Amino acid sequence: MRSGADLELVHLTKRYGTALAVNDINHVFTNGTYVCLLGPSGCGKSSTLRMIAGHESVSEGQIVLDGHDISYLPPAKRGTAMMFQSYALFPHLSVRDNVAFSLKMKGEDKATRHRKADEMLELVDMGHLSARLPAQLSGGQQQRVALARALVTNPRVLLLDEPLSALDPFLRIRVRAELKRLQRELGITFIHVTHGQDEALALADEMVVMNNAVIEQAGPAREVFTAPRTEFVARFMGGHNIITLGDASYALRADEVRLAPQGHAATVRTVEYQGNHVAVTSAMGEAEVLALIPDHDFFKDPKNPGDAVSLAWDEGRLHRLQA
Ligand code: ADP
Ligand code: MG
Repeated sequence: MRSGADLELVHLTKRYGTALAVNDINHVFTNGTYVCLLGPSGCGKSSTLRMIAGHESVSEGQIVLDGHDISYLPPAKRGTAMMFQSYALFPHLSVRDNVAFSLKMKGEDKATRHRKADEMLELVDMGHLSARLPAQLSGGQQQRVALARALVTNPRVLLLDEPLSALDPFLRIRVRAELKRLQRELGITFIHVTHGQDEALALADEMVVMNNAVIEQAGPAREVFTAPRTEFVARFMGGHNIITLGDASYALRADEVRLAPQGHAATVRTVEYQGNHVAVTSAMGEAEVLALIPDHDFFKDPKNPGDAVSLAWDEGRLHRLQA
């Protein structure tokens, strides 16, 4: 059942001059979900997000929140808030004043501004650093301030454009868990743009995969991963082989391929130790097939490049792709 605060994109289109950045997309973001908008660079993710936020004009179509067309409202009147990739904090304002800034613009009195800003800073665990300037914070701390600044407006939809890209890999994994926790606590919709498959799989209730200005596939994260609709989605998600049999293409998960006593004859090309798994790439006729073998299994009978092997999988695991 849909609640009131669903966000709906209706024939949404963005042109820059004659270039089509977003091409007639239709989608309903269900209230209270963590959505990852995923796709290669240039596919239209940021344009879509900026149109929702009101930082970019709509060329055609509508953005509907809670049954109201918000396409032409200014950003502060939409019920959305955006956290930018660069954080865009004011360097001369303290952490607290950065967070309180939009409230000042709305004309709220100082005591209220400070109370609300402090609440948000507590929420992101930054209450103890409210007097600092942005330059006196680490990247991860700046990121939290930017988050508090977006949330202080009490949005129904939080838009995050590659929020983790400036963090080192270790911090990225920690902060993404915090984002997820925060989304659960607040119960609002998060739309998080990323080009990282792992990040999207880890976070998303729903994944929306874009390619060439359109939505290629949308659905629960596990469904998109296990049942990619097209070759593009299968390749982009990674971890899949594309196998052509007759004139149809199939996706086959790399972790479903085994090195077996009997199967399809192949020759090992590369062997890569990856910790939990060993990635074995083999030539099978014209095709190159990746097998992710659990390390215990692999080291019972290790293989080397040039070795003849046979590859096996359960036929039911071949997932037919749309042409
Ligand atoms: P993504 O965020 O997925 O990388 P963008 O939405 O930023 O993609 O860009 C989509 C397309 O629109 C790209 O081809 C990009 O070059 C183009 N584009 C983005 N912003 C502008 C702009 N302000 N003016 C002209 N072209 C733009
Ligand atoms: Mg972008």
